Amino acid sequence: MITKNTKIHDTKNLVGSLPAVRYVNPKYLYIATANARCPKADIYIQPGDHVDSCQVIGMRHAAFFDQPIHATCSGTFVGYEKHYHRNGKLTDFIKIENDFKDTLDKNLHIRSDEEIAALSKEEMTQIIKDCANVGLGGSSFPTYIKFQTDKPINVILVNGIECEPYITADHRLMLEYPYRVMEGIKYTMQAFNCKKALICIKSKYKDIKAVYDQVLKEYAGQGIELCCVGNYYPQGREVEMIKSATGIQLKQGELPSNKGIINFNVSTMVGIYKAIKFNMPVIKRFITVTGDGIMFPKNFRVRVGTSIKELIPLCGGYKDPDVDKVFILGGPMMGASVPSDDCIITKTVTSIIILNKTNYKEEPCVRCGSCVLSCPVKLEPVQIMNAVKAMDKERMKKLNPSRCIECGLCTYSCTSKIQVTDYIRRAKLLTKL
Ligand code: SF4
Ligand code: SF4
Repeated sequence: MITKNTKIHDTKNLVGSLPAVRYVNPKYLYIATANARCPKADIYIQPGDHVDSCQVIGMRHAAFFDQPIHATCSGTFVGYEKHYHRNGKLTDFIKIENDFKDTLDKNLHIRSDEEIAALSKEEMTQIIKDCANVGLGGSSFPTYIKFQTDKPINVILVNGIECEPYITADHRLMLEYPYRVMEGIKYTMQAFNCKKALICIKSKYKDIKAVYDQVLKEYAGQGIELCCVGNYYPQGREVEMIKSATGIQLKQGELPSNKGIINFNVSTMVGIYKAIKFNMPVIKRFITVTGDGIMFPKNFRVRVGTSIKELIPLCGGYKDPDVDKVFILGGPMMGASVPSDDCIITKTVTSIIILNKTNYKEEPCVRCGSCVLSCPVKLEPVQIMNAVKAMDKERMKKLNPSRCIECGLCTYSCTSKIQVTDYIRRAKLLTKL
């Protein structure tokens, strides 16, 4: 049967309605030396050195920007250990033994409302750069680069849609810290001299709506509104959200700022608030631990650098321990699989999904067309897959795999259980060679 799968069964209710468990003082914290955008780093500390929480302990280097590395607790630098990073690669992590004193770096201070009101956009941009703020919804794109646009911005979109199934970390953040969200929005509006901001959520999030309907009364007249959009995946995708919230249809690859729009994830807004108000980098975040392979799925508030292994017992351990598990960092549609639970929560890890492994067998393609119907960017996944199988690069190029947003819907909708998205990824790589 041909199916269009943009209304994915959503298991958010498993944990979204429960308060997040605080687990903010593990004995060791692990800070990545590198990440997908920054493959190299200089580390400023030696084993045995004492570090303060939020202290700059190194600098990551990307092709076109540098990114300070911050300690996320106070304690002693023990040495390096390898663990899995969000990108699925074994990576060197700086291991810090927590002294549980939480002494703060001397650069942290509270800015008064008057000081903040006097900050220029350039000053705010520099603060955000120094605090290494990035897109916390998973993009990890440096926030300061977005702030550097010189295009006039008419509307700021705050993405609280969290459209992938299972994940409820942003959901909890919005419910538990609404004023931090609101202040982050206020500061961002100030930076862009923008008079309008829309907080985008799925229309089914009645609990968030109830909270923000109240909170927004305290921000009346400041141009901030709630915007309820559709309940389907991938509604959180930039192009879809902009279309739903503003009616504006971006062309493929077009920057939202060309249309006077800029968007940030809701947790990025809280990061901006902490940076501007306290000079504080992101050292804690919400994370969802869920899936059918875990006893009691939960949301946690953790320090960045916490080992995921430590959260498993707090969820009651693994369900069906004799069954092999699949570990996915990020959402089930766009996340990266890692071979084990030996992974570390970095700033951009929103969730870990632990699934009982099912040994299904791929069947031959039945040319049902479900993948084509489901593709939100109107590609022909089955044709790309066939071109990859035939290693026909010319055909691959004509089918434009570079436009794929890796949403995973073609795999999800495939009646023959073929990992279609993997073929599209391969086509993307092959056509670049
Ligand atoms: S993964 Fe790519 S090809 Fe597959 S449905 Fe999503 S956008 Fe289309
Ligand atoms: S790849 Fe899967 S979804 Fe696409 S046409 Fe073939 S069987 Fe159908």
